[in-house]
Amino acid sequence: MNGKDRLARFLQTDPRDVGCDEAMAVLHVYVELVADDPAAAADRFPGGAVHLAACGPCREDFDGLLAAVRNEG
Ligand SMILES: [Zn+2]
Repeated sequence: MNGKDRLARFLQTDPRDVGCDEAMAVLHVYVELVADDPAAAADRFPGGAVHLAACGPCREDFDGLLAAVRNEG
């Protein structure tokens, strides 16, 4: 990735995006909210929804957790 691409990516980042660290810190809580009521989850933690839409690795973790939570329920 060159400097121009990095700049473009930076400028495209949604300011509500909480970033990987924050997303990972709350992922296990957030995933239970989503399993329970997706609309309420996005409402309560909009930065999480934004980050998961933008970040492939976090999205993968989230999808795996969500599948696990749903299998339990
Ligand atoms: Zn991430």
